[in-house]
Amino acid sequence: MTQNYPVQVELTEGKDLLLAGVRPVETETVSLENGFGRILAEDIRARENIPPFDRSPLDGYALRARDIALASREAPVTLTVTEEVPAGAVAGAPVGAMEAVRIMTGAPVPAGADAVVKYEDTCFTEHRVTLFTPAASGSNIVRAGEDVRAGDIVMEAGDVLNPARIGVLAGLGYPRVLVYRRPLVRIISTGDELVDIARDLAPGKIRNSSAYMIQAFLQSWGMDARIHPIVGDDKDQIRKALETCMEDADCVLTTGGVSVGDFDFVLPAMEAAGAAILFWKARMKPGMATIGARKGKTLLVGLSGNPSAAVAALFVLCLPALRRLCGRRDWELPVIQAVLAEAYDKPSPGGRVLPGRLEIRDGTPFFITQKHQANGMISPWSRCNLVGMVPKGTGPLEKGSRIEAYFLTSAGF
Ligand code: AMP
Ligand code: MG
Repeated sequence: MTQNYPVQVELTEGKDLLLAGVRPVETETVSLENGFGRILAEDIRARENIPPFDRSPLDGYALRARDIALASREAPVTLTVTEEVPAGAVAGAPVGAMEAVRIMTGAPVPAGADAVVKYEDTCFTEHRVTLFTPAASGSNIVRAGEDVRAGDIVMEAGDVLNPARIGVLAGLGYPRVLVYRRPLVRIISTGDELVDIARDLAPGKIRNSSAYMIQAFLQSWGMDARIHPIVGDDKDQIRKALETCMEDADCVLTTGGVSVGDFDFVLPAMEAAGAAILFWKARMKPGMATIGARKGKTLLVGLSGNPSAAVAALFVLCLPALRRLCGRRDWELPVIQAVLAEAYDKPSPGGRVLPGRLEIRDGTPFFITQKHQANGMISPWSRCNLVGMVPKGTGPLEKGSRIEAYFLTSAGF
């Protein structure tokens, strides 16, 4: 068989091969109430000012600064209170010479006034207010547009709608918003040993744990992830499952059967289903045996059956492409640096992915490695919140070395 794809790619090469050619999915309109976590598909240009008018940030008196320019303890100035403006109302008349308007927090500053003095700094009766110090013109006035200025771009397509952005959209009067639809990702678990989680275990069988973990990761990243029924180690069955899933999925992830064992059929099955293989195997541990492929617009990734290896490859090879598919403009993962709390004594000739836990000690982020961990385990990542990255060609790491890491959960929200 002629092999026209790279084998044993570098990590960044594998990641970039998956990224290349990925375009965001189509868009849809959702109500702002359902916007949380979605990816904005339009630039938002503020069509109004926030606040919409000059307003008072406190309860006090709106007045003309020049009228109290000479006020002092010895020579207080008394102004006539002409009316009261609660929030939501507007003054009936401008503030004239030696006049003041009693004004509440959030109420518009009346025409004529150029300063607001808070109650606590005055003496007042119903119709009079006395001031003991001058106020600078403009003091205690929140200007229209100070928060958001009409005409400014306040968010861009590709931004994640986090709660604060939802707040700004609400402030600008967006009951609906254009977002990218959630990409559909189908997960096919392959392996004769697998049984569905609701079934009893027969001798030699294990539960299909990886699929549920992968589904949940994809959901946490805003995707619509669905689990396909388990497929045995059979090239034709795998091909058929791939073809079925590719009918509507934006991405198909498989687990198992990506090595060189006698029952590893995922790669030939992908080829038989008409996919172009982008790479097979990446220089990383765990997760080395990973396949990247594509058919038309559909991204295909063959992950190892080993749960820890599947997570590692899903993160460092696959996630940037998935984020791009989702429409995010920050598809590369944010990286932090953490200090190794203990020595890591293995060398890393290829890149290494380490499950770790973030602990902040005296303000410094520490990376706590997991003692009890191996590729085939499902439990290590459940105790972790960091994905540690040891660059290729690194020797054993001393305690106190810096290690780069991605956040395992809520990536980028
Ligand atoms: P494979 O990638 O098919 O060589 O499988 C590697 C290891 O992962 C084997 O021990 C499998 O039994 C195990 N495995 C495969 N698929 C899954 C799965 N969906 N959930 C949990 N373990 C799995
Ligand atoms: Mg297998």
